[in-house]
Amino acid sequence: MTGSNEGGDDASVTIGLLKRKMDEFAKARDWEKFHSPRNLLLAMVGEVGELSEIFQWKGEVPRGIPDWKEEEKTHLGEELSDVLLYLVRLSDVCGVDLGKAALRKLDLNALKYPLPKGKGGDADADAGGSNNGEAE
Ligand SMILES: [Mg+2]
Repeated sequence: MTGSNEGGDDASVTIGLLKRKMDEFAKARDWEKFHSPRNLLLAMVGEVGELSEIFQWKGEVPRGIPDWKEEEKTHLGEELSDVLLYLVRLSDVCGVDLGKAALRKLDLNALKYPLPKGKGGDADADAGGSNNGEAE
């Protein structure tokens, strides 16, 4: 990572860009020796904990979190980013092409949970089961 940001958005920020920036960030600080798969996994889990703290004790919150203060939304973005960046770094040091793996997993999920009749699929509505959209 460098000090400058490209100011991109979801459509223009690629996994490859994040991967390169994380690699630059680690190299510039001589942190590659710390970026073992296990260390990165544990760091990511720690960040998931920080993300969870934001929602802890709030009860269910509506999509779009309309009642949250701007600073809470900023903090949420920071913790989501911490999780994403460690995930990207972990996949990189493990030699996993995360974009390709994620698309493959979506395809596998689509096969496992086919669209019900009337939703564009030809599967029986009861065959897909229901897991509330959770990936496995
Ligand atoms: Mg954090």
